[in-house]
Amino acid sequence: MNIHDANLKRNGNWSYRSSTSEIILHHAEASRASVEDVNSWHIERGWAGIGYHYYVRKDGTIWRGRPEWAVGAHAVGHNDKSIGICCEGAYMTETMPAAQLSALKGLICDIMSRYGNLELLRHKDVNSTDCPGVNFPWAEVQKYAQSDAKKEDGEVVEKKNVLLNGKTYTCECICRDDVNYIKMRSLAQAGFNVVYDAVRQMPSITAPQCRTFVPDGTAEVQEAIDTVQEYAGLEEQTIDYLLRYQYGEELIKKIAAHIK
Ligand SMILES: [Zn+2]
Repeated sequence: MNIHDANLKRNGNWSYRSSTSEIILHHAEASRASVEDVNSWHIERGWAGIGYHYYVRKDGTIWRGRPEWAVGAHAVGHNDKSIGICCEGAYMTETMPAAQLSALKGLICDIMSRYGNLELLRHKDVNSTDCPGVNFPWAEVQKYAQSDAKKEDGEVVEKKNVLLNGKTYTCECICRDDVNYIKMRSLAQAGFNVVYDAVRQMPSITAPQCRTFVPDGTAEVQEAIDTVQEYAGLEEQTIDYLLRYQYGEELIKKIAAHIK
């Protein structure tokens, strides 16, 4: 998948999108416009930059908009959970060229191969608008996405218990060719900090810190931590370490009781 980068200028920072469940399709409502044009229109609106994540031109070239991991600005109420794709053209009246349609399908397939089966929607399915136009080849694109979804159904998603930092969590795992893959979403739910590192261009997973890791954070456990810290002079790192152990909370309570 060849995605061009225009190194678009921007006017602010992106924020990280914590979930992705939809792809939303748009048209530019302009017969001819480059990704730079769309970017400057959106900056004029006071946005940080182009609202879409991808821009597909009539000639079949695909351009990167804002980073795929960022919250978009393209569909009210859906920006925090969707990837926005815009197609050059005014499809209230025009007809989409074959090269553009083919590129759009390839892009959708590429995104779904990385995120799993996302819900494919048009802008007008979620907001009051004509976008992406009555001539947009929706039936064709939709049919394609459904056949892709069938392929995804072959995957088995199972809930499995996994020890993460010594504690048991029930995670969604995908089993493919006898290899288990834990969904990043499950890691995030278990308290791991899962972000996209924009500099290195790869996902970054950080083990949680002790305080956020204690899921209940009960007063009892906190009191035991305070006691151990005060009387035994244990360093914070040592207590962190004990709490990461599966039975760490019980252990720290026992130590505190002995000290008392
Ligand atoms: Zn739209």
